[in-house]
Amino acid sequence: MLLYILKTNYYYIVSARGDFMKISEILASKKNTVSLEVFPPKQWSKLSESKKTVKKMLTYKPDFVSVTYGAAGTTSGYTAEIAEDILAHGGVPLSHLTCVNSEKSKVREVIDTLEQGGIKNILALRGDIPKEMTERPHDAFHYANELIAYLKAKGDFCVGAACYPEKHPESESIDSDIQSLVYKADAGADFFTTQMFFDNALLFRFKERCLQAGITVPVIAGIMPITAVGQIGRSVSLSGCTIPKAFAELAATYAHSPEDMRKAGTDYAIAQIRDLLEHGQNNIHIYTMNKPEITAEVLKGIADLIR
Ligand code: FAD
Repeated sequence: MLLYILKTNYYYIVSARGDFMKISEILASKKNTVSLEVFPPKQWSKLSESKKTVKKMLTYKPDFVSVTYGAAGTTSGYTAEIAEDILAHGGVPLSHLTCVNSEKSKVREVIDTLEQGGIKNILALRGDIPKEMTERPHDAFHYANELIAYLKAKGDFCVGAACYPEKHPESESIDSDIQSLVYKADAGADFFTTQMFFDNALLFRFKERCLQAGITVPVIAGIMPITAVGQIGRSVSLSGCTIPKAFAELAATYAHSPEDMRKAGTDYAIAQIRDLLEHGQNNIHIYTMNKPEITAEVLKGIADLIR
């Protein structure tokens, strides 16, 4: 009970400062936005370390900070905790939430926790279906559009969704993938954030397709600075994105020189974002991998283009 009262008081204190911004309002009111993604720890003992990282990220004044959600919802408490901490330090949090591996009742519980913590921005995701999982939850949301519709009916949430410039790996075609985005937009998605991509032409083609399908909400470009050769294989296998020849050559050149690879990967991300901003892609999301120094370097490299 005491905790609830404290939280409630806190809610009003923060609210009075006007920090409960909806991301849709930020996107509508600013020409360019730069947001950051962080991930919560896997263990409780690492929580304070993660909070320090997030606090450092907030000193860069991102427009919002998204917090990922453990694949099967096992670390959902940490996502909420980090999101609330972002709010407490004057930032705008976006809490990720997946639904396919949990009973609806569990997802509803997590939504209630987020709501009580004052979190109004949620990235509604289906989540990956683990191959090894033989028993499926009896009563679950099957696709992200169902979760989006639920959130929109439940309360005053700003809801984002995922999109894939090179299509979701499970989709048969780019057309069927775009149709899934139409379902999400029709369910009330306020914006989309893209999977990582390394060739800007892919994003511009993808956005044209979205427009042709009648999707008019903002599409935020997700950029991953790849600063170690080992990151490439992991990123490709997780996301299904392609690595352009120029980037593959760069990685081959610096395969045995970690410091040079770090610089080359950071420079590649800077050049990619600069090109996006110069060609009218105004909303950028950086997959920081919880690396404040690299994030700071990327932000420095684009500072003159952010207004
Ligand atoms: P959906 O939109 O439900 O799509 C899944 C598949 O089903 C697609 O092939 C789609 O075309 C198809 N489909 C969609 N709707 C329908 C429908 N109504 N009928 C038939 N087919 C349909 N994962 C995590 O575990 N935690 C995270 O924090 C996380 N954050 C992410 C952030 C971003 C920006 C992105 C791009 C991905 C993130 N993921 C995260 C990964 C994501 O959970 C996986 O890509 C997952 O496999 C799909 O999620 P989705 O919400 O895009 O699913």
